[in-house]
Amino acid sequence: MSSTRFDTVIIGGGPAGLSAAIYAGRASLSALVVEQGMPGGQIATTDEIENYPGIPSISGAELGLKLQEHAEKFGASIAYGSVERIERNEDGTFTVSYSSESATASTVIYTGGAIPRLAGFKGEDAFRGRGVSYCATCDGMFYRNKHVFVIGGGNSACEEALFLTKFASQVTMVVRRDKFRAPKGVSDRVMAHEKIDVRFNTKIVAADGDALLNTVTFEDTVTSEQHTETYEEGSFGIFVFAGYMPQTDLVAELVDLGPAGGVVTDERMRTKTPGLFCAGDVREKPLRQVVTAVSDGAVAAVSAYDYLDNL
Ligand SMILES: Cc1cc2nc3c(=O)[nH]c(=O)nc-3n(C[C@H](O)[C@H](O)[C@H](O)COP(=O)(O)OP(=O)(O)OC[C@H]3O[C@@H](n4cnc5c(N)ncnc54)[C@H](O)[C@@H]3O)c2cc1C
Repeated sequence: MSSTRFDTVIIGGGPAGLSAAIYAGRASLSALVVEQGMPGGQIATTDEIENYPGIPSISGAELGLKLQEHAEKFGASIAYGSVERIERNEDGTFTVSYSSESATASTVIYTGGAIPRLAGFKGEDAFRGRGVSYCATCDGMFYRNKHVFVIGGGNSACEEALFLTKFASQVTMVVRRDKFRAPKGVSDRVMAHEKIDVRFNTKIVAADGDALLNTVTFEDTVTSEQHTETYEEGSFGIFVFAGYMPQTDLVAELVDLGPAGGVVTDERMRTKTPGLFCAGDVREKPLRQVVTAVSDGAVAAVSAYDYLDNL
């Protein structure tokens, strides 16, 4: 196993990690980014991004590539592999092990992201991005004047259903239980909204179509009775709001986790372990978007610089 030494090792090459690499490079820190998949993280899986300020429209893959090129331009090294372990050494440095390599650094910026919790219906994965979405802020406007089904009965499902009424002609909430889990103020607004109807005790068990969706199968969670509804292809979408799973396993013993499972940091992205910073979707935070991830990454890199400066 070979080992190399850096000022900072950045785990994750999504928007937060690559932004951290750009800011680290500009501050003359030697930085290694370790990414297990595509540069760009979650955005690499989305066709179009229309809400990154200053760039009215860009594909996720292209934005990911641009972020990677930008990080490399400022000197970041990028390695491909899955980080398996972060160890804090007695002298306060960290050893990061990935594939058959390891790197030592005085600071680590962990940006492992979060993944949306799946609803688990048949067709969910096959139609992801073709009628099934996990982000109203990202995809809501593609459903202008269309019918959307919103899966979930918690606070974020209700908030997102209200948000989707700005675009959709009709919003149908599909809630497994006989009531919402959201605070009363929000659920009252949902129930009173003229564009929203709610199907309690119901879950979606399948969705199907050709290029886009045209059928949805519902199940009554009390009687287990199922029925299928058919619509014009592409005339509706399904938004899943079953929560997020921040990817915290690697750092769980080095950080505090919040009630929603995200890493707790201060506003300088510091964790309870000196020298370990966390940025992006992996944090406990109210808005998981590219713009907030790159902002976190920038702050984390500047904080890493200050930490090294004070050693
Ligand atoms: C389908 C979809 C569409 C979206 N559309 C938009 C949009 O239009 N606009 C918008 O602003 N936001 C959008 N988002 C949200 C946005 O993609 C995220 O908020 C953003 O990518 C978060 O960046 P991040 O760097 O924190 O995490 P991520 O993008 O999740 O990146 C984390 C990276 O860490 C890597 N990683 C994790 N663990 C390890 C490990 N052990 N070793 C090595 N690498 C590791 C992962 O492979 C990944 O590349 C969308 C999300 C999805 C899923």
